[in-house]
Amino acid sequence: MRILLVEDDALLGDGVRAGLKLAGFAVDWVQDGQAAKLALETEEYAMVVLDLGLPKLTGTELLKWLRGKGLKLPVLILTARDTVADRVAGLNAGADDYLIKPFDLDELIARLHALLRRSAGQVAMTLRHGDIELTPATHEVSKGGKAVNLSAREFTLLHELLLHVGQVRSREQLEQHLYSWGEEVESNSVEVHIHHLRKKLGNELIRTLRGVGYVIDKSQV
Ligand code: CA
Repeated sequence: MRILLVEDDALLGDGVRAGLKLAGFAVDWVQDGQAAKLALETEEYAMVVLDLGLPKLTGTELLKWLRGKGLKLPVLILTARDTVADRVAGLNAGADDYLIKPFDLDELIARLHALLRRSAGQVAMTLRHGDIELTPATHEVSKGGKAVNLSAREFTLLHELLLHVGQVRSREQLEQHLYSWGEEVESNSVEVHIHHLRKKLGNELIRTLRGVGYVIDKSQV
């Protein structure tokens, strides 16, 4: 899952980026509101982690712009302890959740997983499809009750497809979730990861629509 992190505090931003990366997210980090706006205009993100006190364009202004544009992706705001008014303004401007600084990285990760589930209309902690189960918080996948070992990118691809069962995801959309800025995109990487997923989870799970993309069809059961 690709996340846009907007935080002007260099130390905090660096720490959060490193922690989210370890948790399996692809993270693009920008340090002011204008850069965030540009990123949101050009890239596709699963979520935004947004500091409110930012140079150039405040977090609240960015949120208003984003919701005004019709972008529905979940936004979690980061606020200082003493700014209740800011927090309320942020929530009113369209934020989905907030954390007060200083916060625990594990709590941030848990809340992001919860936001992802909610935005995909999922309530359960575990995504199920036929005999396949995927638990984002623990990064576990099983088939028929047996654990299956997936690489971080295979996991991300499967997660993305399971969040959109019945909807075709294009190769470009899937690539967006695999790589953050500055990471080299291998030209055939999505195909290679899909190939590995089929080997590990069965050929019939992911259907290729030639020239269009990939889809996990709704279960027959
Ligand atoms: Ca700040």
